[in-house]
Amino acid sequence: MQWSKHFRVKPGQAVRLADRDTAWTGDFKNKDDARDALSANIARMAELQNLLYAQRKHALLIVLQGMDASGKDGTIRHVMSGLNPQSCYVRSFKEPTPEELGHDFLWRVHRVVPGRGEIGIFNRSHYEDVLVVRVHDLVPRRIWEQRYDQIKAFEKILAANDTVILKFYLHTSRGEQRARLQERLKDPAKRWKVAPGDFTERKFWTAYQQAYEEALTRCSTPAAPWFVIPADHKWFRNWAVSQVIVETLAGLKMKYPTPKFNRAKIHIP
Ligand code: ATP
Ligand code: MG
Repeated sequence: MQWSKHFRVKPGQAVRLADRDTAWTGDFKNKDDARDALSANIARMAELQNLLYAQRKHALLIVLQGMDASGKDGTIRHVMSGLNPQSCYVRSFKEPTPEELGHDFLWRVHRVVPGRGEIGIFNRSHYEDVLVVRVHDLVPRRIWEQRYDQIKAFEKILAANDTVILKFYLHTSRGEQRARLQERLKDPAKRWKVAPGDFTERKFWTAYQQAYEEALTRCSTPAAPWFVIPADHKWFRNWAVSQVIVETLAGLKMKYPTPKFNRAKIHIP
């Protein structure tokens, strides 16, 4: 079964998030049931990363987006836990600095995309410029309206230059967000993460969902597909993201480069 296909937004398909179950768990009954499948994927990702690095033909860009408390950090912590830090890194995109605002919105993004052989993980991304920016009118509509095409053109350039792009929308329900925010307030190890803004942003839930629907609908392309991941169950989210990554990397049919020397002639003194 190609699970990637199941989660992928088909180019041109209009996304309605309300029609997609946030709590879906596929063939798995519970967390224990999915444990082995996740471990196997994490191990496989490490092998595939090694091939990617050895071959240096492709770069892998993973984009994580979702509402507050949708699990972007948790996905990175769990799904990427088996990767070698040597050729893998995470970039988080916060509110732009004055320097970043002095440039076009893709400037800060383009300079940190992964090179061939590397895996780059974006915790939030250039999509914030058609999400939070649109919801809060941080720039006029005529400016953000053009950005969908600009994003598509940008991603097309990356893809044409051997970057494999996987964009994950972590789809959580409003109720689940409430539970997680409450949980964060209780737990001293999580409380520091809470910003008062997280609670006020909740009021804009519908506007965010609409902005997401438009980004997913307009910017899921063959070169840079969006995947909608049911994310109310953290364990399913972790498995689903890892599964799409494994299927995609395996599909590249990578091979270790053959050395240019003749092994038989080498004598190790
Ligand atoms: P955490 O899980 O730690 O809360 P986070 O990604 O929410 O992680 P924060 O520092 O809480 O990190 O939030 C970053 C904020 O920056 C988000 O509210 C996001 O919408 C905002 N942001 C990101 N990019 C832009 C942008 N281009 N313009 C305006 N705001 C942005
Ligand atoms: Mg936050």
